[in-house]
Amino acid sequence: EAVVNRIAAGEIIQRPANALKELIENCLDAKSTNIQITVKNGGLKLLQIQDNGTGIRKDNFDIVCERFTTSKLEKFEDLSSIATYGFRGEALASISHIAHLSIVSKTSNELCAYSANYVDGKLQGTPKPVAGNQGTIITVEDLFYNMVVRKKALKSAAEEYQKISEVVSKYAIHNPSVSFSLKKSGENNDIRTPPNSNTVENVRIIYGNQIARELIEFSVENENLGFKANGFVTNVNYSNKKMILLLFINHRLVDCQTLKKCIDQVYATYLPKNCHPFVYMSLEINPLYVDVNVHPTKHEVHFLNEEQIVEAILSALETKLLGSNN
Ligand code: ADP
Ligand code: MG
Repeated sequence: EAVVNRIAAGEIIQRPANALKELIENCLDAKSTNIQITVKNGGLKLLQIQDNGTGIRKDNFDIVCERFTTSKLEKFEDLSSIATYGFRGEALASISHIAHLSIVSKTSNELCAYSANYVDGKLQGTPKPVAGNQGTIITVEDLFYNMVVRKKALKSAAEEYQKISEVVSKYAIHNPSVSFSLKKSGENNDIRTPPNSNTVENVRIIYGNQIARELIEFSVENENLGFKANGFVTNVNYSNKKMILLLFINHRLVDCQTLKKCIDQVYATYLPKNCHPFVYMSLEINPLYVDVNVHPTKHEVHFLNEEQIVEAILSALETKLLGSNN
């Protein structure tokens, strides 16, 4: 059974950045306003994430790493939100099957924090009282220690760190009210966004002033198609070697090749060959219309009325770009 669980976990968590994405989403779900990430060896040796959110109650410590255990579906109606979040209660469980996982957490109701270790989904012993502030510290060590082949396949710590940095950058831009930081253990922060920032400021901090000063805001919605989109794109005077696309659907970082290709086509009219824009877009769609199989292994998302929605977004963008060009 342990082997089956490990294989399943390894499919969900394919590299350190996948684990980090799930951990960041947990911090945001817990209403954190400060999220600090520390990494060793591209996240393979250490991935630690500290937040100031609601924390985990002492009596929930024994279940948080059990598969399909979640505190986030309380009412039957909440089942519709499965469509948004795709899968539930699998992240910590999965991580505990393929890494050494420990949790320190304190809620506002408890006098001290509690600390615990997990192996294969199971709490080891009982949570120990320790000093700590409100919030949660999740420490993931030796990711893939029991998956020799996977570990070998990911030999470049630098590349894994790059992926981690992209995930942090994108969540920081999508959540400007939350302060994010990322650093390698023992070094200075590589990323740090201030609390109560804004989107443009965070783009400036992370992607630089050149992109930030070219940004134009857009928003478009259509009740019949059941969507709302807003964000920022660079105007037609600015381009990157590679398209930078930050796409959130219902606040989850996802890929949508259809949308990506179409946006690039819009810009192809204005930009020279091999020049691409920076695009940040937050798309909200009725959760019932999004492919319910949004799973960490399936970064690619599809949704109902995809063609019409993409079409509507593109024409809004084109109007904006034309407006900015003269
Ligand atoms: P899910 O997020 O789908 O509920 P996870 O495996 O990601 O499943 O997390 C399991 C549970 O652990 C969550 O439902 C939540 O109760 C708790 N949890 C995990 N991370 C945090 C955190 N940073 N702050 C507060 N609670 C957390
Ligand atoms: Mg989660």
